[in-house]
Amino acid sequence: MRTRFAPSPTGPLHLGHAYSALLNHDKARAGGGSFLLRIDDLDQSRSRPEWEAQLKDDLHWLGLDWPEPCWRESEHLAEYDAALDRLWAMGLLYPCSCSRRDIREALSAPQEGAPLTGPDGLVYPGTCRPLAAAEGPRPRPRDTTLRLDMARACARLAGAPIAFLETGTAPGVTTGTELSEPAEMIQGIGDVVLARKDMGAAYHLAVVVDDAAQAITHVVRGADLFEATRIHVLLQNLLGLSTPIYHHHDLIRDDNGKRLAKRDDARAIALYRSEGLTPSALRAMIGL
Ligand code: GLU
Repeated sequence: MRTRFAPSPTGPLHLGHAYSALLNHDKARAGGGSFLLRIDDLDQSRSRPEWEAQLKDDLHWLGLDWPEPCWRESEHLAEYDAALDRLWAMGLLYPCSCSRRDIREALSAPQEGAPLTGPDGLVYPGTCRPLAAAEGPRPRPRDTTLRLDMARACARLAGAPIAFLETGTAPGVTTGTELSEPAEMIQGIGDVVLARKDMGAAYHLAVVVDDAAQAITHVVRGADLFEATRIHVLLQNLLGLSTPIYHHHDLIRDDNGKRLAKRDDARAIALYRSEGLTPSALRAMIGL
């Protein structure tokens, strides 16, 4: 059994991160397996070495350890590039130049009906898709946003099920075998972004490459990523990678019932530490 915790070094870790990291660690230990740390620093404009140092320090304080050097995404861009090349060669990606505003405007056209939202927000209306088809085969363009042509991707898998095993029981999560039909993928998720103009690989692509490269058997993460898991499983199928078991856990909420965000410095682990809380008292606070 191999689990991983994959924080972004873009701010302080808070109680929600502690919960996720501890669950991953406890699960790996209980199963006699290993717990790995992954630094999700794809977004170089927001990642800072001092946040990485702080998050490691907080995790050590919580009693967690992991093999070093840990996996840092910014050191694996060539692997993401190779996966993008493969998807491009299969004819499943196309460049997109739409801004968020372009997308909102296209979706507000009267013939569009009520816009649908998927795991990444508004479902892309497909504006740039026909342009790419008209241009025909060419080398993969660099430094541009690339979207997955969801209909083609589903057709490529030709009836093979997009399925994964979910063991979580958080609200909004369905426990058991989760099966997605192509029609749901096309209408409810659409052409997701797999590469970004100034970042290279986007999260959905990187996470799939990383989980395979680190041989992760159990993905334990927040319930907010349950819907996106279908995208990950689809990409695993396209790239010939195995699918881990997924466990989407409850989100830690603030006193108003809102889920904690990075900016919730008031619940930063570092703050509790400075106030003299012990790791076991912090565990108790989040029900572990
Ligand atoms: N860095 C991502 C996050 O914090 C990791 C998600 C995942 O575990 O797949 O949301």
